Amino acid sequence: MSTLMKVSGLKVAYGHIEAVKGIDFELREGEITTLVGSNGAGKSTTLLALSGLVKKNGGSIVFDGEDLGKLSPHKIVQRGVVQVAEGRAILTTMTVRENLELGAYTRKDRSAVGADLEHVFHLFPRLKERLDGMAGNLSGGEQQMLAIGRALMAKPRLLLLDEPSMGLAPIIVQEIFRILREINREGLTIFLVEQNVRQALKIAQRAYVLENGSIALSGSGQELLKDDRLVEAYLGG
Ligand code: ATP
Repeated sequence: MSTLMKVSGLKVAYGHIEAVKGIDFELREGEITTLVGSNGAGKSTTLLALSGLVKKNGGSIVFDGEDLGKLSPHKIVQRGVVQVAEGRAILTTMTVRENLELGAYTRKDRSAVGADLEHVFHLFPRLKERLDGMAGNLSGGEQQMLAIGRALMAKPRLLLLDEPSMGLAPIIVQEIFRILREINREGLTIFLVEQNVRQALKIAQRAYVLENGSIALSGSGQELLKDDRLVEAYLGG
């Protein structure tokens, strides 16, 4: 598998707080990579840096051979690096259809947009049923599905997710993870930030554990599920 994104020495600080302290990782094309760790470890900050939404203080982010460091968030999305926002961030007073259409607003290949909409309906039949309803009336799980669907409408080459399992019932979490696996099988590269360590490691080919802004462990998802240090710290012994 070739490297789609290579992150080297990434540093991000908020004033005097060093949230990310010079981390290295790579995302391989066609794989699910996960970044796990506890509250405040710096996971969200790392994702925001990849999307260009926070300024990095050092290091480089190279996507498909191009340094993203100087690009605006808008240009980064156009390159195909698309983030599903934490807390969904869907537009609750707009319809499901309008939310999905918004995901595609920067695209110039309008003819392909219709086909991608059909694909989103295939992945999330519930969204098709509720197409003309207000997004704010969807359940938490449906809103997360809409947020993922909207990101897919931007035609990502790399999909970034920040805790898609947050606040959802276990059965809905299973469903969301099943769909992530399906999208990945279709070829999409995924970078998944999660506090739900067990579920994330189960679906990830590659995993990194972030502690206090530094990478503490890395390996395949399967390896880390069996790693004593990780089991003790994150999986309840
Ligand atoms: P969570 O799961 O709670 O989102 P996280 O692993 O994603 O945790 P971050 O949100 O990246 O961690 O936070 C990393 C560190 O940076 C924490 O110490 C946090 O308090 C701090 N931090 C995050 N955002 C800001 C901000 N906008 N201003 C100042 N400090 C911040």
